[in-house]
Amino acid sequence: MSESHPPAVPAFAATDAGWRLENSYGSLPKVFHFAIAPVPVRAPRLVVLNHALAESLGLSADALDEAIFAGNALPPGASPLAQAYAGHQYGGFTTLGDGRAILLGEQITPRGERFDIQLKGSGRTPFSRGGDGRAALGPMLREYIISEAMHALGIPTTRSLAVAATGEEVMRHDGPLPGAVLTRVAASHIRVGTFQWAAAAGERTDIEALVAYTLQRHFPALTAAENPALALLEAVIARQAAVIARWMGVGFIHGVMNTDNMALSGETIDYGPCAFMDVYDPATVFSSIDRRGRYAYGNQPTIAQWNLARLAEALLPLIHPEETRAIELATAAIENFAVRYQACWLAEMRRKLGLFNEEAGDTALVHSLLEWMHRAKADFTNTLATLAQPAADENFRQWQETWQARLARQPQSPEESAELRRAHNPAFIPRNHLVEAALAAGQQGDLGPMERLLEILAAPYDPSRDAPEYRSPDPAGGAGYKTFCGT
Ligand code: AMP
Ligand code: MG
Repeated sequence: MSESHPPAVPAFAATDAGWRLENSYGSLPKVFHFAIAPVPVRAPRLVVLNHALAESLGLSADALDEAIFAGNALPPGASPLAQAYAGHQYGGFTTLGDGRAILLGEQITPRGERFDIQLKGSGRTPFSRGGDGRAALGPMLREYIISEAMHALGIPTTRSLAVAATGEEVMRHDGPLPGAVLTRVAASHIRVGTFQWAAAAGERTDIEALVAYTLQRHFPALTAAENPALALLEAVIARQAAVIARWMGVGFIHGVMNTDNMALSGETIDYGPCAFMDVYDPATVFSSIDRRGRYAYGNQPTIAQWNLARLAEALLPLIHPEETRAIELATAAIENFAVRYQACWLAEMRRKLGLFNEEAGDTALVHSLLEWMHRAKADFTNTLATLAQPAADENFRQWQETWQARLARQPQSPEESAELRRAHNPAFIPRNHLVEAALAAGQQGDLGPMERLLEILAAPYDPSRDAPEYRSPDPAGGAGYKTFCGT
């Protein structure tokens, strides 16, 4: 997979390899997409391929033309395009669009599912503005690791099929970095920002087409709804409440919850400055550019609701012909996010505490644990994974007593409770220092540490594996850990 000089435009690959691409997104009105091919690169080299994912997509890994993953060849049936969208970035509205990504098409899997196949870092598009259209190897490997970890944790997410190095350098603030292309697999790339774009730049018929398309693709049971726009809003609210509760349950901090990075499918999308929290502190922020902590761990549910309100605004004209009535309906739906989120979060925390039934005091029980963790600067993941272990801290012992008494009031046995906790408290998360070490080695050409890390993260709920170095927080303390937006 290397060439001395890149072709001017990618040609179709000769091998079939199981590609079954459709291009339904291209049938949406023109305002939503721009036909453009990836820009071939100088020296494409496959760095990592996700064999299990390839197989589940119906692709035969051995027959795949690897040049596809760098944008130097197109899979059969591809009709590449850049998607148009807008978004609120840190609260400010901008028009955006795929400035460095190309949708090749939608792969229809052997089970009949439809997944976007997108190249990220594949060259300039009309939406690139000042950007180079490219991505650096480190951040693309990072997205690969974290998205696959999220998938293994059972959290809805886009996935990573491959990372290919380009043999070209990208210039970033610290100097030149090796370039790479990520192949991302997603239920779709329809974002809150796609609707904001429709509202800002499209006609009413364009928003209607997007609503119908999104319902068809993600909520087919709602296509005949009496009020499709309101049904869509409510369904998206339900999915977001569920996925954000899962993030909170594992200490995941997305880091850049702009409205263009919130997918209507309910999948976690756009792994830039994201990271997992070690010591429990709701104010935790890792992103170097999030100086005010807008996207801090504890703010994520509120921000999700804020983003959903932007979706509601874009849908208003379709929700009801009278604006005041439309606002009433949308407001009720948005307010319901808080109720739904709270229910999802409490259900999640009950499972994590090994509770099968419900008691009125459960919320307080969870909060008192979190307060203790905060005061004691305890590791979030490990505290939850070892709740029943004898503790040195007197305050924690007191909490354990209350909790044990609560467990004793449910009909299930202690063993059943322990099993519920094991299944919902990961032993392994992508610890920041391990991710950084794997990326540093990977950028030097040594993929061993990343492969070993991926292997551990593929079975996060299996505490029986003897890998203590993968369970401990950063021995150096991890204070001041910073992530970068990764462009
Ligand atoms: P992100 O921060 O990855 O969600 O991207 C926000 C916006 O910036 C999107 O419109 C991207 O396409 C665009 N963008 C990010 N990096 C680049 C780049 N290197 N070149 C061109 N556009 C970019
Ligand atoms: Mg984005």
